[in-house]
Amino acid sequence: MTHYALLIDGQLHATEHADEVLDPATEQTVGYAARASHAQVDAAVDAAQRAFAGWAADPQARRTALALAASVLRENTQPLAELISREQGRPLRFTLGEVAGAAATFDHYAGFEAPAPEVLRDDEQRQVRLERRPLGVVAAITPWNVPIILLVLKLAPALHAGNTLVAKPSEHTPLSTLLLGQLLKDVFPAGVLNIVAGDGAVGEHLSHHPLVRHITFTGSVATGKRLYAGASHDLKRVTLELGGNDAALVLADADVPAIAEALFWGAFWNSGQVCFAIKRLYVHRSLFEPLVAALVARAQHTRLGSGLDPQTELGPLTNRQQLERVKALVADARDQGAVVHTGGAQPDRPGYFFAPTIISGVGAGVALVDEEQFGPVLPVIAFDDVEDAIRQANASPFGLGASVWTQDIDQGAAIVRRLDAGLAWVNQHLDVHPGAPKGGYKWSGLGYEGGARGYDAFSDLQVINIARH
Ligand code: NAD
Repeated sequence: MTHYALLIDGQLHATEHADEVLDPATEQTVGYAARASHAQVDAAVDAAQRAFAGWAADPQARRTALALAASVLRENTQPLAELISREQGRPLRFTLGEVAGAAATFDHYAGFEAPAPEVLRDDEQRQVRLERRPLGVVAAITPWNVPIILLVLKLAPALHAGNTLVAKPSEHTPLSTLLLGQLLKDVFPAGVLNIVAGDGAVGEHLSHHPLVRHITFTGSVATGKRLYAGASHDLKRVTLELGGNDAALVLADADVPAIAEALFWGAFWNSGQVCFAIKRLYVHRSLFEPLVAALVARAQHTRLGSGLDPQTELGPLTNRQQLERVKALVADARDQGAVVHTGGAQPDRPGYFFAPTIISGVGAGVALVDEEQFGPVLPVIAFDDVEDAIRQANASPFGLGASVWTQDIDQGAAIVRRLDAGLAWVNQHLDVHPGAPKGGYKWSGLGYEGGARGYDAFSDLQVINIARH
């Protein structure tokens, strides 16, 4: 069985302890992930600190290395995508897309010119310039739902801006990130990219290290809050991409047959394990019955299976804890009077599968509606008055994404502007424009990833005043 090593200072490191990683579709072993000791985390941060000055000094070398990273990923798309499918569960066609997206992200930054220094004043007395400086060592901590692209969205801009980096993948899906480290070992100078693996305690040790100057984190609200508090003691910079509880509003004029498929996938893609999936569906009462019927029909002919089976549309939940959480949310909703239109149970087969589930009869005050389910279960809630739907959508501590579905695009755009969401869609959900910044309102995050705003997070500004006398 393959053991996957850490990457520290340009060398692969086996460890005393290794963690078994299971295929969530079969509960069979996929491989073993080296578990970093605190000393190995410290060694990774020290290596990143030593590599920083040389890396920061040569922007052309950085772009060349990022271009090479893109081509190495393209050459290894198949094994990397298969490993993601095996440890995370998603169908291979989507994990192939994930790796292609990661290669495209490296390519984008390989060709990206950092914003030029601004000259604020330039005369006989003084020159005043605004320049960017990299921060130093960045810690990148990632979740299990889309492991490679979520890391590369941090890694590529952070390295492009002149920082060095220590990455810590989720303990549920560490293998693909460790393989990425192995593939990129000789692409970057020693110490520029380091990968350590392990559970939250490893992440916590990394995020408290005094030489880490910025933490870029994607994960749950609870961990994000903890990281934010921990970062305060030495004022580390933080970027937090956290959970969501996205509402989709279907207005009375929507064309149900035309939108049902897109709504279904907006909620169920990756078995609902998407930060900005549709997690609450508010439907005008006149369309409630036909829309529920269309979603139920779609759910009932969805093919569940291993990500490696080309017929599979939906894989399992990625880990047992998440399966248990989804089961508990459904049981609680039933206790509170929910109607389960389809699904609602774990199918009788190995693996962490849960049948795609459509539920009604619950609203605010029930955990399935108030919290992030992060699984293949969608509560559908009827409304009579669109103002009431807007109020319910916004009555949430989350603010990641939201969508409005209508044949009147102007009205859709007007309503979506009133929803508390960093990502807002009309007649779609999930599509993310590659150059656009992504960030959540309220508990869904702090700062932005991607685009110019995201790039800015990896530098500090320096105002340089030069007196001419
Ligand atoms: P999680 O918060 O449990 O874990 C995320 C990462 O943090 C893991 O690597 C984990 O080991 C590490 N970690 C745990 N405790 C830590 C600590 N005290 N200090 C430092 N690191 C620690 O999240 P998860 O369950 O892996 O991921 C699912 C969550 O991620 C969902 O809420 C989802 O919405 C969110 N998410 C958000 C986005 C986004 O872009 N906003 C994208 C994907 C996922």
